[in-house]
Amino acid sequence: MMVTGLNTCNPRTLFSELPIYTPLHYSNILSSITGSNVYLKLENLQVCNSFKIRGVGYMCSKVVSENNCQMLVSSGINAGIACAYAGKKLNTLVTIFLPINTPEFIIEKIQDEGASVIIKGKDFEEADLYAKYFVEKTQYSCYIPPYDHPDIWEGNSSIIDEIKSQLGDTPDAIITVVGGGGLLCGLIQGCQKVRWENVPIIAVETHDTNSFQLSTINKKVTELPKGSEPLANSLNIKKVCSQALNLSNSHPVVPITVSDAMSIHACRKFADDHKMLIEPSSAAAVSLCYSNIIHDIIEMDSTSKIVVIITGGNNISLAQLENSRYKCSSPVPIVVKSGSEIYMKLNGSN
Ligand SMILES: *Cc1c(COP(=O)(O)O)cnc(C)c1O
Repeated sequence: MMVTGLNTCNPRTLFSELPIYTPLHYSNILSSITGSNVYLKLENLQVCNSFKIRGVGYMCSKVVSENNCQMLVSSGINAGIACAYAGKKLNTLVTIFLPINTPEFIIEKIQDEGASVIIKGKDFEEADLYAKYFVEKTQYSCYIPPYDHPDIWEGNSSIIDEIKSQLGDTPDAIITVVGGGGLLCGLIQGCQKVRWENVPIIAVETHDTNSFQLSTINKKVTELPKGSEPLANSLNIKKVCSQALNLSNSHPVVPITVSDAMSIHACRKFADDHKMLIEPSSAAAVSLCYSNIIHDIIEMDSTSKIVVIITGGNNISLAQLENSRYKCSSPVPIVVKSGSEIYMKLNGSN
């Protein structure tokens, strides 16, 4: 398929029509629990229900306008949905690779955007390998990585520009979750662009998905052991991208892990309190406020402003939420802090 006109377009102009400006919502409940001011950046209300369209959409705009790309190829649930949406808007064919255990409603959502779905591989890593292999063999096709590319980080950094103009002030901390680290890289780059180089980013993972935390402790990218099936599946990336580790050396970042039980508990509380359903992967960030563990991480008082990135996600339904309840019966908060060195880095920078 040859698209005329698009290739002469500036990628930034194309990109500006993809993500929407999401609300920065003041949470009365979380502010009162923590005794400070908690703002939620609601990327669950973003198009395709996650922040992914920012990075993926930016890269898709670039390859379509500059590389004469006629088929976008990606993998994964939320990245796949975002890529399918971007392709529809950019008038380009899309093929998404997904592993065999993908829920039917996700496959339908991607097909509803007009994309082709190929089910291949037993997990996300395998599906992603098939996507790359397919691109090697297919002319005019482009691989869109879910998290490990400078264009992904550039697109994701747009969250910070929005928070800056919405908050009208510098936050005391930003809380986010980390999977492959594409969002974390975007947030750090965004902070550096707007001169928030002292704003600490609290990087939350779950116990089975803590590749970023392990990497910071070992000072090199560290792969997770194979075999586990974490509930926080959007965070379940075997190896965080090396740029996340590099950037965390030039910005205050505190890696923290929480239990699955904490994420699920936060997911249920968040739905009750804010009337919104998000993935446990996303709720892991907000669990620091519900459990009030945030006070062990940073010093804060009634004037502090904390921004939590609500990444959102599609891989959650009432049935899945109900099921996960039986998987973790005990909502006992278990937190693993990283080495004192990383902890000190934050104190040192303030
Ligand atoms: C992709 C995703 C994440 C993790 O983002 P990374 O860039 O891989 O770190 C977290 N939450 C949701 C809902 C996601 O879709």
